[in-house]
Amino acid sequence: MEMASIDYFECENCGFRWKDQGPLLFCLNEDGEIEEYILIRTAYDLDKDSSISGDIVETYCVNCDKKIKMYLISFIKKPYDEEEAIALIEKFANENKISNTILKPFIKSSDLKDDCYIVDLSRNFHTSKRYHCPICNSEIPKYILSKNSCPKCGGEIKVVDGMCLDKL
Ligand SMILES: [Zn+2]
Ligand SMILES: [Zn+2]
Repeated sequence: MEMASIDYFECENCGFRWKDQGPLLFCLNEDGEIEEYILIRTAYDLDKDSSISGDIVETYCVNCDKKIKMYLISFIKKPYDEEEAIALIEKFANENKISNTILKPFIKSSDLKDDCYIVDLSRNFHTSKRYHCPICNSEIPKYILSKNSCPKCGGEIKVVDGMCLDKL
């Protein structure tokens, strides 16, 4: 099991800030919202009755200078099929029907303001499938933002804050 943690980075050159957190998951909750959560012990069973669930990956478009959230659906149960599941998560994301009850205590309020989404099925994640920015259509990296250099300017980065959530 990957350890749950949140690390904040900042570029020493341009000041760009971002976080690397996870494992991040989502499921359709009983209120008909996307429940976003980080996988800590108390959240292990959260998706067990959900009909749609999967992983969240955060990435970035250099061209738009915009953070992009990817909802990668890995589990779909009746009454939904694949197409319906994608359409539903897209709809809820666009309508901002998102709940962060478990994640909220650990993150800064500004981190909740992602407003650019991609929804896909996770079985495509490790294929050669390419992802494109929903705004400008340029190719974006599949994985989370770099830990080695600034995704915006390539400059040196430093860790500005971080916490390990495993003991919670
Ligand atoms: Zn873009
Ligand atoms: Zn930079």
